[in-house]
Amino acid sequence: MRGADNMAQSKPISKRSSKTRKTKNESQRLEEALCASELNARMIVNGIPGLVARVSPAGEVEVVNRPLLEYFGKDMEEIRKWQITDAIYPDDLPLALETFEKLPTGDPFDVEHRLRRFDGVYRWFQSRGLPLRDQEGQILNWYVLLTDIEDRKKAEEALQSNESNLGRIINTIPTLAWSARPDGTAEFFNQRWLDYTGLTSKQAEGWGWKVSIHPNDLDRMVNYWQTAMTTGEPVEIEGRLRRFNGAYRWFLNRAEPFRDERGEIVRWYGTSTDIEDRKQAEEQLRRSEAFLAEGQRLSRTGTYSWRPDTNEITWSKELYRIFEVDPDTPVSMELTLTRIHPDDIPSVLEVEARGQKSPDDYEHSFRVLLPDGRIKFVHVMARATRDHDGRPEFFGAAQDITQRRIAEQALEASERNLNTIINTIPTLAWSARPDGSAEFLNQHYLDYVGLPLEKLQGWGWTVAVHPDDVNALSGAWQSIMAAGKPGETEARLRRFDGEFRWFLFRTNPMRDDSGQIVKWYGTNTDIHDRKRAEAEVKESYLRLAEAQQLSKTGSFITDLVADDHNWSEETFRIFEFDPGTKVTVEMIRNRIHPEDVPSFDSMIARAMAGKDVDFSFRFVTSRGVVKHIRGMARVIEHIVGRPLFIGALQDVTDSKVAEEALNRARSELAHVSRVTTLNALTASIAHEINQPLSGIVTNANTCVWLLSTDPPDIAGARETAQLMIRDGNRASDVVERLRTLYGKKESRPESMDLNEATREVISLSLSDLQRNRVIVHHELADNLPLITGDKIQLQQVILNLIRNASDAMSKIDDRPRELFVATERDEDNVRLHVKDVGVGFSTQVADKLFEAFYTTKEHGMGIGLNVSRSIIEAHHGRLWATANDGPGATFSFAIPCRPERLAGADARAKSD
Ligand code: ADP
Repeated sequence: MRGADNMAQSKPISKRSSKTRKTKNESQRLEEALCASELNARMIVNGIPGLVARVSPAGEVEVVNRPLLEYFGKDMEEIRKWQITDAIYPDDLPLALETFEKLPTGDPFDVEHRLRRFDGVYRWFQSRGLPLRDQEGQILNWYVLLTDIEDRKKAEEALQSNESNLGRIINTIPTLAWSARPDGTAEFFNQRWLDYTGLTSKQAEGWGWKVSIHPNDLDRMVNYWQTAMTTGEPVEIEGRLRRFNGAYRWFLNRAEPFRDERGEIVRWYGTSTDIEDRKQAEEQLRRSEAFLAEGQRLSRTGTYSWRPDTNEITWSKELYRIFEVDPDTPVSMELTLTRIHPDDIPSVLEVEARGQKSPDDYEHSFRVLLPDGRIKFVHVMARATRDHDGRPEFFGAAQDITQRRIAEQALEASERNLNTIINTIPTLAWSARPDGSAEFLNQHYLDYVGLPLEKLQGWGWTVAVHPDDVNALSGAWQSIMAAGKPGETEARLRRFDGEFRWFLFRTNPMRDDSGQIVKWYGTNTDIHDRKRAEAEVKESYLRLAEAQQLSKTGSFITDLVADDHNWSEETFRIFEFDPGTKVTVEMIRNRIHPEDVPSFDSMIARAMAGKDVDFSFRFVTSRGVVKHIRGMARVIEHIVGRPLFIGALQDVTDSKVAEEALNRARSELAHVSRVTTLNALTASIAHEINQPLSGIVTNANTCVWLLSTDPPDIAGARETAQLMIRDGNRASDVVERLRTLYGKKESRPESMDLNEATREVISLSLSDLQRNRVIVHHELADNLPLITGDKIQLQQVILNLIRNASDAMSKIDDRPRELFVATERDEDNVRLHVKDVGVGFSTQVADKLFEAFYTTKEHGMGIGLNVSRSIIEAHHGRLWATANDGPGATFSFAIPCRPERLAGADARAKSD
């Protein structure tokens, strides 16, 4: 062949080329050389299945070898005219053309494409081209070597399809599959695995897959996996795997090691199977079993099955519990019968015999008698079925209804009870339909009106209503029904004997679940007596108000702590407040005469402490009128520990004005009389004493004269001296008589209460003391025994002590003028103390205070204390004065309280 010969001529090309293209790297050069020599060799051996062509830089085929011509089935001429597109498989054309277009760059090429054989069959070829250059580097022509690679391609394809098949299998099996290296790190995950987790292979690779394991399962799984790595045992473990959407599902992970010939593990292959549904079913089963058991336990219902022909019985757990039989005991009819109450056995047997004869559903109840004597009520419902041989089998449920039974019994009892109550309550009770017609009336109602139920039902009851009240009552009843709310009204009802009495009709609606009124319940309460009492109260109230007005006495009820005052009309009138005003202590205090404010405050303080109080103050009305008010308040009860007072007060302005005038007159008179008495007394003393004294003086002169005569007249002098003695005695008689006159009064002892005597004195002196702005405090001992004494005399003493105290404070202005009166007892005595904060006395005069005629007062007489002491001493007591630690003085007396002593004392007092 020519072509082949031509080829043979061009041997030295490669040598030249290697020399001229020093810039090319070594490997390329080597390759080119190799290619050239290969070419030569192939050209020599035409049998080699290589197709070779030499192509001009312009792309014209210049020389080809024989195999090429044979392959295409063409001669050289045809080949020259041939277009490349005629030979290359259309699908491979774009790549081939792209390659050939780059020829002018001079780079060798290597491309694979199919070529059409002479018989029209396409085969795969590797087409490699090398340029042949001249010394200047100009491309002379291209050598193209076409190597048949059809077989390789086929093998490759087969492999590829095989692999892709496998891959497809791996990726389509409905299982997550993966492989891992011997150290446990993941190597491969199938598409399913990746799709499920939403991870990429890259993310999951190594230990990356751990992010998809449920946190609660992670440690357990990783530990297990690592242990398996060391033992090489097959892996089987369950765990939750997170889906791309965040949901976890349960998987069963299985893996097997793959070993090489030496037995070394080279890889692990694993699968993860979704067992979520199985898990859920398991859980559901577990729960439904638990649920059933719990349901049985809660409803106290046990189940059983029973085959009458074989007498096979099974019990559920709960049934064992109901019968209180050990759950391990085998069940039998005999066992069942030992638990059934003997009285109920016949009926149970009968029911079951019936069930056996004609299998049907049945239901019955019986009592269970437990060994300890307790009784349970059981209700059984059984359903008959037939097995495939047509034999009956019963499935039953036995419920422990003991508690329900007890409740039912209780309900029955309470209904009976209720009925009894309804018919025995001392009230007329009834019920009515929603339209107001009567439905039920209790026995009491029937008895009261003396009519039978039938007569009263519907609207019959109205016959017993007082004719005058019928209209008002039915009006009220209609409006209560229209309002649909509880209501009440009053009307008279005729008693069986014809007497009408007042009743309070009260009613309440009862509604069903939808709020519809289904019934009215009512009671009629006899308020006849109350009505009458109310009328009486009203009347007596009116009378009282009138009486208060007439006597100018107001009354009040006061809760001081809450500052809550309930005043009678007259009280409002006295204070000249608008009736209905909300009165407060502060409001009253603001109108108290300034001079009386301290005593008002102390009265309030005492009352606050829960003590009864008497008071007297001046009140300045809003018109500026001064009113004298006197009153008292007594604790009537303690509401939650605070006192509630009831009291009365009187406007005593008129009598006060009169009293003051009287007082003034009296004290003037007293002063006058004191002075007069003293004058008279002095005159009479002077007179009485003067006579004997002047007799004595005269006689003494006579006596001196008789003795001075010569010889002295002894007998005359003696006689005269006798007269002097007589006159002296007369003078002392006078004095004695005077003492009896003002000091010794016959005492009238009686059994008396010193506290009471003291209280009387205080209230008598109250107005004097107030005038002198003295605040009185008294603390009278509770347990004071009675004493025997002259009450009037002792009151004189107390009065004298109080007056002195008040006098002692009359010039005190820098402190409150406080007076304390106290009584107390010691073992043998009762004592009274009058303490003031006045001028007091100095120790030098302490002894003198009780002397007659000692006084430091302008108009004093100085006999008060002296007389007081003699009175107290006549009572076998003691009167003394003490200077206070602070300002003022305390005068006290003590009187023995032992009755036997007092009896003796009386005797002595009389003999004095
Ligand atoms: P009178 O009251 O007429 O003076 P009394 O015998 O009652 O006569 O009192 C004598 C004197 O005792 C009084 O003038 C007074 O100096 C003194 N006295 C009495 N009571 C007190 C008292 N509470 N505080 C200070 N001195 C008093």
